[in-house]
Amino acid sequence: MLIQKEVRSVLNKHKKRDSWFLDDYSVNPYEGCSCNCRYCYIRGSKYGENMEEKLAVKVNAPDILEKQLASRARKGEYGIVFVGSATDAYMHHEKELKMTEQFLRVLLKYCFPVFVSTRCPLILRDVNLLKEIDKAAILPADLQGKLNRGVILATSVSTMSEEIARTLEPGAALPVQRLEMIQQLKEEGFLAGVNAIPVLPFISDTEEEIDRMVSSAANHQADFILVGGLTLFGDGPADSKTLYFKFLERKFPHLITQYRQLYGNNFYPSRRYQDELQEKANRLCTKYGISNSILETAAAQSKG
Ligand code: SF4
Repeated sequence: MLIQKEVRSVLNKHKKRDSWFLDDYSVNPYEGCSCNCRYCYIRGSKYGENMEEKLAVKVNAPDILEKQLASRARKGEYGIVFVGSATDAYMHHEKELKMTEQFLRVLLKYCFPVFVSTRCPLILRDVNLLKEIDKAAILPADLQGKLNRGVILATSVSTMSEEIARTLEPGAALPVQRLEMIQQLKEEGFLAGVNAIPVLPFISDTEEEIDRMVSSAANHQADFILVGGLTLFGDGPADSKTLYFKFLERKFPHLITQYRQLYGNNFYPSRRYQDELQEKANRLCTKYGISNSILETAAAQSKG
């Protein structure tokens, strides 16, 4: 049973544009997420071990969004809005509740560009609406001439292994289904790609596994693939670090020491690890002729 919640604000303005996804704002129609990924960065004691039990729908959010966007539009403060930055905008409750669809209608009305990353093929329901936004959106002045698109779509993939994905991402579509969804979105004419974020240290960050992800993304016609490391927060019973280490104990107990060395008391793996991961990803992107940057993709497409 979904909790019904009233909110006072729904549009979050970032201090700085996200350098990977290019969003200046984010909105979340739901609180929590039924994809229930064990490593999810939003996990904390507030959401509980099973996020689905604490899941809430922000019932008045479309009206609040309308007021907030009208005010930003009046001032000309256009920017890309990440729909579902702390939830999956197309998790299975969306089929019935249509909150994301209502959000998109308001975004279209005020001509705001959007970024959506989802692990759920339900996004295909909104293809026509997204096409209207793609045409009508007004980009922020500094992106005009560089992006030329009002919609950027993506999916996230942490591994191509079905078995690991079923354990770690129990409520999401399987990785290959997500890539098929991206292929369909490409065939519909969208700028669409893959976030290989987070890749899993010593499990899906090997040369062979990243090769599998990058080549699969290229084979499904993705425009880009962004590769990033795993963050692990907290030591409470429902926090991502705790749940992830439980997963390691069950499936990869021989890796626990390596993980402890890599993370220590930090949320992030070491800088050296991140640099090596990036170098590996860039090399494989070159090998398969796929971009590792949304802006570069858009620039190449506008020249072509
Ligand atoms: S789909 Fe995203 S928001 Fe949902 S649980 Fe997984 S990582 Fe978290």
